[in-house]
Amino acid sequence: MSLVVIGSVAFDALETPFGKTDKIIGGAATYISLSASYSVKPVKLVAVVGDDFPQSDIALLQQHGADTEGLQIKQGEKSFFWSGKYATDLNSRETLVTELNVLADFDPILPDSYQDCKYLMLGNLTPQTQRLVIQRLVNRPKLIVMDTMNFWMDIALEDLKTTIEMVDVLSINDEEARQLSGQHSLVKAAKIILEMGPKYLIIKKGEHGALLFDKKQVFFAPALPLEEVFDPTGAGDTFAGGFIGYLAATDDISFENMKRAVVHGSAMASFCVEKFGTERLLNLSQEEIEAREQQFADLVAVMPATVAAS
Ligand code: AMP
Repeated sequence: MSLVVIGSVAFDALETPFGKTDKIIGGAATYISLSASYSVKPVKLVAVVGDDFPQSDIALLQQHGADTEGLQIKQGEKSFFWSGKYATDLNSRETLVTELNVLADFDPILPDSYQDCKYLMLGNLTPQTQRLVIQRLVNRPKLIVMDTMNFWMDIALEDLKTTIEMVDVLSINDEEARQLSGQHSLVKAAKIILEMGPKYLIIKKGEHGALLFDKKQVFFAPALPLEEVFDPTGAGDTFAGGFIGYLAATDDISFENMKRAVVHGSAMASFCVEKFGTERLLNLSQEEIEAREQQFADLVAVMPATVAAS
């Protein structure tokens, strides 16, 4: 099932209590496509980098299932650069630098071979660019999933709401859900956000798991309690890539299957945080992924108290 992914492909510089990196490969679309590639190939990438982006990093994406026909390389320009620093508990992070560079005037061009898109993942980018991709697809995809962040809520809220109205699933974290809705209760926030247009809402709560809402029901998947978390960068994108990759591979967008996709996405994200940057996503085996999904299932498997007592 054809999956198209748009988002940033970037240089990141990261600082966690465990160490610092210089510029390494990052970006929302990078994490999404690496994660989705374990479910479906190719992942058709729409992104832009400058001529400072190493050919070896593009080759790395290709080796991991990315179709890079839609990846533009802008001569004489610099790639998007983001730098972040995590607090000791790794739960909060401060953005130190956001240099949009090539992203500032990114015009997403979709190759003809991408027009068969059935599943569209709009990774973090300007809401206007995300919208252009929907408009440039001749046929509306079966499912459009969108990820975004507080940065766009701060500087382009109305634009963001216009794009949100056009998608099927919105994936954001708890702080962003509160900011977008103006409600502290996540249940109330979900109600308000679902009124904005999407049929489904995913609220990611970091080490506290993820919630999936539609207008009638809610599902919760925990995060795996991990002994060591090294670097949470990209966890949200890795989750989103796993989520849409699973749905594309199974081609089933029922709520029941979305629950499984949330567990799969959570399992992929749990790998991501174990090493710096994308490192842990580069060589996972299907056995490891399945074993991790089983750990998730075991984590919450309990017989209802009423049944156990009888
Ligand atoms: P996450 O940790 O899932 O929120 O994603 C981190 C990734 O998002 C990093 O690799 C960054 O390069 C990328 N990123 C950070 N800020 C932005 C932004 N404003 N637009 C697009 N991508 C961004």
